[in-house]
Amino acid sequence: AGMKRGIVIKDDWPGHSLDLFTYPEHYHKDIECVYIPHGVIMNRIERLAHYIMDDFGDKNIMVLCVLKGGYKFCADLVEFIKVLGRNSNKYLETRVEFIRLKSYLNDQSTEDLHIIGSSDLSFLRGKSVLIVEAIVDTGKTMKALLKHVETFEPKMVKVAGLLVKRVPNMAQSLTDYVGFEIPNHFVVGYALDYNEYFRDLNHICVISNTGKMKYKV
Ligand code: 5GP
Repeated sequence: AGMKRGIVIKDDWPGHSLDLFTYPEHYHKDIECVYIPHGVIMNRIERLAHYIMDDFGDKNIMVLCVLKGGYKFCADLVEFIKVLGRNSNKYLETRVEFIRLKSYLNDQSTEDLHIIGSSDLSFLRGKSVLIVEAIVDTGKTMKALLKHVETFEPKMVKVAGLLVKRVPNMAQSLTDYVGFEIPNHFVVGYALDYNEYFRDLNHICVISNTGKMKYKV
């Protein structure tokens, strides 16, 4: 079970005190705690890269990176896949494509999902696809994206989610590679934003009320 759920962060995990880490000064009052330190994120991604290497037998992966939140996870994951290939002489050929989705306003999921940018994914036909997404919350976004991707008839589709939220009726089965299962908090950092802020934060952090007010649109 642990493997499928990833590292499970319990509801009562308070995070690390901010003064134990370094982070951009300008976010001092805007975050509550360091929820997942950058180093731990990296170690976990290295492990996910192992699982992926083991599963993608045909040495060819079409990586579909979900922007913007997924860009760091995607870059680091692909890097680990390359390093593992180099060290084991089992190279996987990776091609990275980007797709941009938007469904959030402030910290609320909205009903309408927009695919911005390349929506013609016909290059996926017959390919082994790895969708790379930073966070799966209700799963609405991923369900819609999977449906869209399937129309291009890929050979296989797997989903890597760095974070999966523990919410009622959670979409656990959508995600094949889970970094961390987290409680239902709004998190930022490591490319995850709140109205475009906090992408320049390395750690995954919980936003404070001050932060929510300050950057609200
Ligand atoms: P879902 O459709 O699964 O409810 O939402 C997925 C999308 O919502 C993600 O792609 C992400 O953009 C956004 N999202 C959900 N939860 C969070 C969160 O805690 N922090 C941030 N920054 N974005 C989130």
